[in-house]
Amino acid sequence: MVQGNAVVLAGPTRRLRLLRRVANLAPWVLLGFVGAVGVVTYLFPAFIRSPIIAAAVLCVGVALITASSISTMSFYHRVAVCPRCREPFIDTRLTRRPFWCHRRCHHCGYDVTEHHEGDF
Ligand SMILES: [Zn+2]
Repeated sequence: MVQGNAVVLAGPTRRLRLLRRVANLAPWVLLGFVGAVGVVTYLFPAFIRSPIIAAAVLCVGVALITASSISTMSFYHRVAVCPRCREPFIDTRLTRRPFWCHRRCHHCGYDVTEHHEGDF
């Protein structure tokens, strides 16, 4: 347990903050992307028929789905651990499906969004 050492906690906290940000934002970005593609397809039907544009849309969609599912599953399957207490960051007994990953550890209350000593 590395409780309290800000320099040691800075790296894992930064990684967990980024993972939490991707887990929380990627579904909304994906939803916006699907909506934008739908609007563009409705307004300009010839635009999406281009094979390069269709392949680019498909690649971006697959990348967003992959980022969203991997980051969410890392919290749900207890892979993402708290930098301070080394316990799973989200207690799955309290949260069945973490559609929104909270900023505090369920075990020790460590806030990953606070500015800690050792951060830039
Ligand atoms: Zn913790």
